[in-house]
Amino acid sequence: MRIVVLAGGIGGARFLRGLKSAAPDADITVIGNTGDDIHLFGLKVCPDLDTVMYTLGGGVHEEQGWGRAEETFAVKEELTAYGVGPEWFSLGDRDFATHIIRTQMIAAGYPLSAITEALCARWQPGVRLIPMTDDRVETHVVISASDSGSAAGPDDRGRKAVHLQEYWVRLHASVPAHAVLPVGAEQSKPAPGVLEAIAKADVILFPPSNPVVSVGTILAVPGIREAITAAGVPVIGLSPIVGNAPVRGMADKMLTAVGVEATAAAVAAHYSSALLDGWLVDTVDAAAVGKVEEAGIGCRAVPLMMTDVEAAAQMAREALAFASEVRA
Ligand code: GDP
Ligand code: CA
Repeated sequence: MRIVVLAGGIGGARFLRGLKSAAPDADITVIGNTGDDIHLFGLKVCPDLDTVMYTLGGGVHEEQGWGRAEETFAVKEELTAYGVGPEWFSLGDRDFATHIIRTQMIAAGYPLSAITEALCARWQPGVRLIPMTDDRVETHVVISASDSGSAAGPDDRGRKAVHLQEYWVRLHASVPAHAVLPVGAEQSKPAPGVLEAIAKADVILFPPSNPVVSVGTILAVPGIREAITAAGVPVIGLSPIVGNAPVRGMADKMLTAVGVEATAAAVAAHYSSALLDGWLVDTVDAAAVGKVEEAGIGCRAVPLMMTDVEAAAQMAREALAFASEVRA
């Protein structure tokens, strides 16, 4: 069975670990979000690709959910001693090596998709991990300039765009987001292999990743959404919103910015029946099932908390079983 998954960082990676355990013989292609990518200290950092790669490769900091296990921070401390920031973004020594190699390969002319493949040769994630695009896309968040903690650059409405990482890591998503802009997405092209994998898929899954800044950004790459609907195979999503709040992170802030309620049913409607055949909500949201079905999307309530690999595997089994039924 060929499975395509559109993944962000932690939510995507933890689900994928369960999927691999639930379907060990499946051929899994992961289309990774690169809207989180940022240049720091002259290096290209791809937070979501690395979270998937480290998690599936056994190198992730388990409790934190991102970054490397057994990490040290000597390089970052030395940079700080030189007064070189940004001080708000933490990068560990082991993690630095990944970004050095990636940046070196970019300078040598390799596209991000080839670099990701090269990095995965070490980590053996057991899936094919492809960035959504080889082109530069960066998600920016529009906030009120007065909330930004810096005087620079407000427009005439007193608003300012900051990089998603700055919004999330420096500002802790604590100020209202007025809009989310996947800068560069409109001009981007799907990376080699992305459309082909979608066209050959037997099932397409949206893991419980952020619907706006993870899956939404992937869908903003022209051609990807169209390829998914054209594939004519079951598309099943799992809600990252449980009990009207994100399980972790800032999906509520991002949903508000795009005018969507932070509920499991509203996220399904946001994806729409044009894209989704089935939507899994958590058992605490069982009352939402009827509402999702009214929107023309099949819906079931099952436990959706990824407390361990087996819990995530059970979610994957539910998604695959649902897929085999929705179009039958
Ligand atoms: P990020 O790029 O690291 O933010 O990760 P993703 O976009 O892949 O996933 C973030 C989303 O995962 C958040 O909206 C969380 O609500 C969701 N999430 C995290 N853990 C769980 C879980 O155990 N169950 C569910 N249903 N969602 C989760
Ligand atoms: Ca992310």
